[in-house]
Amino acid sequence: MFHWKLALVLGLCLPASLSLWVLWVYVENWMPVSYIPYYLPCPEIFNMKLQYKGAEPAQPVGGLEYLQPKLLEQRPTELLMLTPWLAPIVSEGTFNPELLQHLYQPLNLTIGVTMFAVGKYRPFVQHFLESAEEFFMRGFQVHYYIFTPKPEAVPSVPLGPGRHLSVIPTQDHSHWEEISMRRMEMISKHIAGRAHREVDYLFCLHADMTFRNPWGPETLGDMVAAIHPGYFSVLRQQFPYERRRASTAYVADNEGDFYYGGAVFGGRVANVYEFTRGCHMAILADKANGIVAAWQEESHLNRRFISHKPSKVLSPEYLWDDRKPRPPSLKLIRFSTLDKETSVLRS
Ligand code: UDP
Ligand code: MN
Repeated sequence: MFHWKLALVLGLCLPASLSLWVLWVYVENWMPVSYIPYYLPCPEIFNMKLQYKGAEPAQPVGGLEYLQPKLLEQRPTELLMLTPWLAPIVSEGTFNPELLQHLYQPLNLTIGVTMFAVGKYRPFVQHFLESAEEFFMRGFQVHYYIFTPKPEAVPSVPLGPGRHLSVIPTQDHSHWEEISMRRMEMISKHIAGRAHREVDYLFCLHADMTFRNPWGPETLGDMVAAIHPGYFSVLRQQFPYERRRASTAYVADNEGDFYYGGAVFGGRVANVYEFTRGCHMAILADKANGIVAAWQEESHLNRRFISHKPSKVLSPEYLWDDRKPRPPSLKLIRFSTLDKETSVLRS
């Protein structure tokens, strides 16, 4: 009796579930797919840029009074190795070049370099490139971007394997001030248009310079500044910051860390983009108010590095000036300004 009832239930259920399944397959394939977006979060989330921990450098803005170094209130007696915000200050003896080469080489990084050669600065290209081939980022992929209004005049310097050169045509500005003021704008545009796809790190260097000793992966960092050779042992009140309040490059007497040189800065390409864009905006604002900062783009660079601290600082080994005698505290010179005839170049 029980077996008979079970067989009847099964006999009815099986065809019923089979027909339900067939109906479901039919409906699913026939009906147009319509997902009701009620599970979507609020639309603002689509405009949110996620910033993962570690993806961006920690860049505190504002309220930095407590961070201002007291160390530089007095004349330093020995070289600092760490900034008060714990960024390394790179100099000979503070790192192991072989170990760093071993760590960075497998990362397959490409390091970009921007260099402007406009007007009377064009003759600097050859020596700059030859010395860079000898000392700059040996064993890495390097991409030189030479900004010049005369691409045909760029000398052909033999480049090592994995090293490339692109000429970026620029306008031929007549006045040297205009050229150096527009560097930030041109670099940021170049990164947005092209370099962000081609390089991992980017250094922005002056043309009137030469490499004298190895410059390697110890210089790589999120955002990198170099201490100006003229002010590494000077009290910070004497730094030539822009002191007029009307300028966006204004630095108050109680502000400032180091005085950085405009001839060397760099970092991860995305950070260099933000940095140059920020400086360009500040320069534009000054221009609208009819102000040119005391040391043009260098003043803006210094202002920005006060509120957006560099994650790594290069000692004057990486930005020296041949016209100065080398102090004993500087073990070697890696990159130096040539003894150019400034008055002639700027005439
Ligand atoms: N520059 C250029 N042509 C000029 C003036 C400047 O190509 O007529 C570029 C060049 O790369 C140079 C940089 O802008 O190194 C900054 O100018 P300069 O070196 O004269 O500035 P300084 O080091 O004296 O502050
Ligand atoms: Mn220079």
